[in-house]
Amino acid sequence: MKDTETHQHYCPVCGSYVIWSHASGVPGTRTRVMCGNNLAASQTDWEPESFLFCSWKGFAERKKGGKIEIYNADGTRLRRKYKK
Ligand SMILES: [Zn+2]
Repeated sequence: MKDTETHQHYCPVCGSYVIWSHASGVPGTRTRVMCGNNLAASQTDWEPESFLFCSWKGFAERKKGGKIEIYNADGTRLRRKYKK
């Protein structure tokens, strides 16, 4: 079982989409989530001097029944919709 961005979640810091991929179907397993504005998400090559990005990170946890929930790194649940 593999889910990739099948749910819409948004970064609580900048409002960008978040990137995650969860390959395990086992309830309780977690995987890293990062903001779409995090350069590490899409680029392997970057200039530290011209760095403009968002460093928000969290994790995705598989629930019983196969659902995925996204959490902030401190364990609070991520809102599904971004609101200022
Ligand atoms: Zn962000």
